[in-house]
Amino acid sequence: MALLQFMCSVTPLARAARSRALVVSSSRTIVTVPTTTTTTTAAAATTTKIKASLPDSNVLLGMSEEQLQQLATDFGQQSYRGKQLHHLLYKRRVKEIQEFSQIPLAFRTELQEAGWVVGRSSVHSSVTAADGTIKLLIKLEDNRLVETVGIPVADDKGSVRLTACVSSQVGCPLRCSFCATGKGGFSRNLKGHEIVEQVLAIEEVFNNRVTNVVFMGMGEPMLNLKEVLAAHRCLNKDIQIGQRMMTISTVGVPNTIKKLASHKLQSTLALSLHAPNQKLREKIVPSAKSYPLEAIMKDCRDYFHETSRRVSFEYTLLAGVNDDVEHAKELAELLHQWGPGYHVNLIPFNPIDGTEYKRPYRKAINAFQSMLESRKITVSVRQTRGLDASAACGQLRNEFQKSPLVIPSIDDITSSIDDITPSVDDIISNSEPEPGPELEQEAAVAC
Ligand code: SF4
Repeated sequence: MALLQFMCSVTPLARAARSRALVVSSSRTIVTVPTTTTTTTAAAATTTKIKASLPDSNVLLGMSEEQLQQLATDFGQQSYRGKQLHHLLYKRRVKEIQEFSQIPLAFRTELQEAGWVVGRSSVHSSVTAADGTIKLLIKLEDNRLVETVGIPVADDKGSVRLTACVSSQVGCPLRCSFCATGKGGFSRNLKGHEIVEQVLAIEEVFNNRVTNVVFMGMGEPMLNLKEVLAAHRCLNKDIQIGQRMMTISTVGVPNTIKKLASHKLQSTLALSLHAPNQKLREKIVPSAKSYPLEAIMKDCRDYFHETSRRVSFEYTLLAGVNDDVEHAKELAELLHQWGPGYHVNLIPFNPIDGTEYKRPYRKAINAFQSMLESRKITVSVRQTRGLDASAACGQLRNEFQKSPLVIPSIDDITSSIDDITPSVDDIISNSEPEPGPELEQEAAVAC
């Protein structure tokens, strides 16, 4: 989900952005980290057919302590070596096997000769906003670029919170009409460790612990659920971020909410609704044709009953499209129809290149919020973070990754999606833009 400007109603903590290794001189300044090159996807772009995810490689990051102990014994070592590996990966954050100084040189060499790597990528570039939000562009092993955002805030009691907004795919196949990521095309799913390393990169750049993780960056997490769950496990068990401090976002992929609920995670589900009725929703979210609103609401209700975790409904306010008070009334009725445990998060649209959508005026936002509150719906309005850094999801990646992404075949996508029974090909094909004035913009894909 492309909601990288994670909202906070509390004061931005700009100073948290200043004490870190990666120095960003001013807002709207793009800084390329000197140790890396700006090579983009020339080679990848010439590939005619790509895999929706990389083949499994021998990557240590993402492995549990038990798995690392098993690995050590597989190499003829005592199992405590696995515990040491765990400590080096997740506590000391060592990036190269050669730098595992507690591990005997012979074992390190054997690991490397067998093709094992830690699995950390380099930061290609970054953008910082005046409010302290930093967006990183991470260069993956196949030279593809993925965005991740760190959002520092201080709460009312003065404690610091650092939220990492992580991507789950390189690009996104769902093409929501307001989203820069959707316009940039889809490349592949991320592996679990490629999601985990985004959090570590944020911690490094802020020189602080990440307290919250939102799966709201590039991509649709439910189309890569297996790897998202693997990353969630690692972030929780190995990196020690509480499940309740994590939010998994989705625009809605049939049967996946049920599947997520079956894992009984103590994490919040954020459902990107954007419209109070099916007809309008299909215009804004083309993939909604495959997942009727009623079915989504039922799945959200079941998620709440199964996990006792509230569902947050994300609603991007687009001026003149879905921001009328009548829409607010309809939304309130819809939510009351499906029961308690709901929260609405209003997101005033953050303008992106190549779109005709506009941000609503403050008056319209207030009227929408008041209407929901008068109908006893709890509401928050997302404060746009990083607006001055042009940091809408997908924009930074689009800026650098000028070579067109290869559009994978449906086979490539479906083969990577675990156990999603209703047809993902339906979802993809239903997300094809329809002819119409607001969709002409689809031709102006940024990369
Ligand atoms: S196109 Fe993909 S990344 Fe963008 S909002 Fe839709 S689901 Fe999220």
